[in-house]
Amino acid sequence: MTITLKALNGGTIDVAQAKLADFGAELSGRLIDESDRDYDEARTLWNGMIDRHPAHIVRALDTNDIRLTVDFARENDLLLAIKSGGHQIAGHAVADGALLLDLSQMREVAVDVENSTAKVQPGCLLSDVDQATQAHGLAVPLGINSTTGVAGLTLGGGFGWITGKHGLTIDNLLSAEVVCADGKVRVASANENSDLFWAIRGGGGNFGVVSSFKFALHPIGPEVLAGLIVHPLADARDLLRSYRDICASAPDELTIWAVLRQAPPLPFIPEEWHGKDVLIFAACYAGDMEDGKLALQEVRDLGNPIADVISPHPYAGWQQAFDPLLTPGARNYWKSNDFLTLSDDVIDISLAAIENLPDPQSEVFIAHLGGAMTRVAPAATPFSQRKRHFVMNVHTRWSDPAKDKACTAWARDLFNQTAAHAAGSVYVNFLPSDDNGRMDEAYGPNMEKLRQYKAKYDPKNQFRLNHNI
Ligand SMILES: Cc1cc2nc3c(=O)[nH]c(=O)nc-3n(C[C@H](O)[C@H](O)[C@H](O)COP(=O)(O)OP(=O)(O)OC[C@H]3O[C@@H](n4cnc5c(N)ncnc54)[C@H](O)[C@@H]3O)c2cc1C
Repeated sequence: MTITLKALNGGTIDVAQAKLADFGAELSGRLIDESDRDYDEARTLWNGMIDRHPAHIVRALDTNDIRLTVDFARENDLLLAIKSGGHQIAGHAVADGALLLDLSQMREVAVDVENSTAKVQPGCLLSDVDQATQAHGLAVPLGINSTTGVAGLTLGGGFGWITGKHGLTIDNLLSAEVVCADGKVRVASANENSDLFWAIRGGGGNFGVVSSFKFALHPIGPEVLAGLIVHPLADARDLLRSYRDICASAPDELTIWAVLRQAPPLPFIPEEWHGKDVLIFAACYAGDMEDGKLALQEVRDLGNPIADVISPHPYAGWQQAFDPLLTPGARNYWKSNDFLTLSDDVIDISLAAIENLPDPQSEVFIAHLGGAMTRVAPAATPFSQRKRHFVMNVHTRWSDPAKDKACTAWARDLFNQTAAHAAGSVYVNFLPSDDNGRMDEAYGPNMEKLRQYKAKYDPKNQFRLNHNI
């Protein structure tokens, strides 16, 4: 008896059932197929647009399971997919007919308080790390939706509320354990396999499977001054111009992001505004409360807000503030670009687009990155856009498959209209699958070195289900 799996070269391969059974028997975790009760949970991704059926799934429990899986895939020429948090918009983590290495059961965080470091297993979600580190008043910069996977976020760069103060997630990576295409388990750090260490700090899953991350931690909170300020969209033109100026001279501790959307039915927004077009400033001050009050005053003084709910929040709680708007299962399509400044034209084009929102769940999201992340050289890691900049992400989100065409067209249209003003770079973790061709924008002058290291560590492109180098 044989089982048919997808081959690395795109065809299919028949593997003897007995061989698969022997492989499964070696694992500490489980090898499952569609008959297993956990199959659907293990193959499901955050983005409801993606519904794929791998042939078999390894639910790994340790580094040895990862090594055995990489070896089995290589020896049998199998297409191997890697899934950690399952949040990537492009959905590379699961492929039809492939062997799926599911790391979601590896969720331990070990905090070394004395040395302010944390060892993090690859299946951890941001909330796992935030909870464990905040128990000691510590944190590593991560993203803003607590159900995102640490692994994919880190391998692409990683930014969030404390990036201005402490840099990108990769700027805080001290070392990693990587299971490479040849099945060898390598430590990657500044002193060991430093080329591999360079490559995984932005180069995604191209270089191997990371089985453990070690991060530097920083004292944060446990309370930070944070919250939302909501304005009518009609006032947004002037407000966004002022926002741009405030960001240009913001201290490292202050992060303010802007969201253009319809007001969600949140209790602090007056009911008559629910469903109306609004501009939301989301802000966080990663430092002393009194300094934060002063730093936030300028943005709080702008215009006539509908609501202002800036107040002290537990940092770990603030890290979950956006979770209700970003629940898994909805259909999502993103288009993203970096901007060195928010020109008046970009502001006007974006505001016009909001008046034609294709679905109440969709939004335009503008993050501002500056501070510590700009003090790392562009060539120090693959993440090459190290200038102070805005990241615009056109977050199209909807539920009805009948709206797929209209929603993706809206995102592409806004992206195309603003593209002429963009910086020429893009954050790899925000690229949808049909933007695979934008690797040169994602990595800029670092692309050539990434290609060299890819040839060294994965010459047969065994790790190809990713934004591929
Ligand atoms: C709602 C939402 C909010 C987000 N917010 C932010 C944010 O604030 N800041 C930010 O920086 N990013 C953010 N992101 C983007 C996020 O960083 C990426 O989606 C990231 O890929 C998610 O990681 P994951 O482990 O969940 O990915 P998965 O979907 O599990 O994996 C994606 C790919 O990463 C690779 N990969 C995953 N794990 C490993 C591993 N252990 N070893 C090797 N390769 C691996 C594989 O190629 C895999 O196909 C957000 C995404 C979403 C959906």
